Amino acid sequence: LLEVHGVHKSYGTLEVLSGVDLTVKPGEVTVILGPSGSGKSTLLRVINHLEKVDRGFVALDGDLIGYARKGDTLRELKEKDILKQRTQIGFVFQNFNLFPHLTALENVVEAPVSAQGRPRAEVEVEARALLERVGLADKADARPRQLSGGQQQRVAIARALATKPRLLLFDEPTSALDPELVGEVLDVIKGLAHEGTTLVVVTHEIGFAREVADTVVFMDAGVVVEQGPPAQVIDAPLHERTRAFLDKVL
Ligand code: ATP
Ligand code: MG
Repeated sequence: LLEVHGVHKSYGTLEVLSGVDLTVKPGEVTVILGPSGSGKSTLLRVINHLEKVDRGFVALDGDLIGYARKGDTLRELKEKDILKQRTQIGFVFQNFNLFPHLTALENVVEAPVSAQGRPRAEVEVEARALLERVGLADKADARPRQLSGGQQQRVAIARALATKPRLLLFDEPTSALDPELVGEVLDVIKGLAHEGTTLVVVTHEIGFAREVADTVVFMDAGVVVEQGPPAQVIDAPLHERTRAFLDKVL
């Protein structure tokens, strides 16, 4: 479903991704672990073309993300086509990033209508069902500032699902939350996992990784150090760097 191949990304002279390869199969849950600054957020942003790669490529079902092939050369897609492509890859941010002036329902409705050109009435029916699915049927008309962090993040998940993406990316979805609100958001993500939604989740929640990940990817200094099932990467890591990281977070 998703292929990340040989991706390099630098900011100025700082190389943040130094040749990352990653393959995600449909229905799989991939959890990315790694120390601060190892490039996890950058990798997610590259997958969604929020950042351009310097080298390598990202492909979704064989289609290049952000580019079209023209003979031997690549040309970047137009903004409109990039936005359309992004509807195939949902993104849930650490800080929710809801539109503050829109209600919960309007946040969920926005992308299907504006980026996918779907009829608002039809999208609204689906949006209400999505809000119900994340336990917020009664909050449809609330604005973000009237919601708790956990509720805002659940709206963000409903919004990410609204375009019916093939893949959902989560960047530390619970790390900005008060501890007592983490569980409600993880439960929604676990529900998606059990329904077979394809997920790539950056998190420090090792318990979550152990419980729902098919594959755990450990990143350090811009490379994938090791990857495999949780029983291997978390419970019997092969690399010293993975062990050192886990010793700190477990
Ligand atoms: P964390 O666990 O703290 O979220 P991370 O693994 O997500 O870390 P990234 O956010 O991908 O790490 O950042 C990797 C490196 O790239 C860091 O050194 C960061 O300072 C740098 N970096 C990220 N974005 C930019 C940017 N827009 N401009 C310059 N440097 C950046
Ligand atoms: Mg990050």
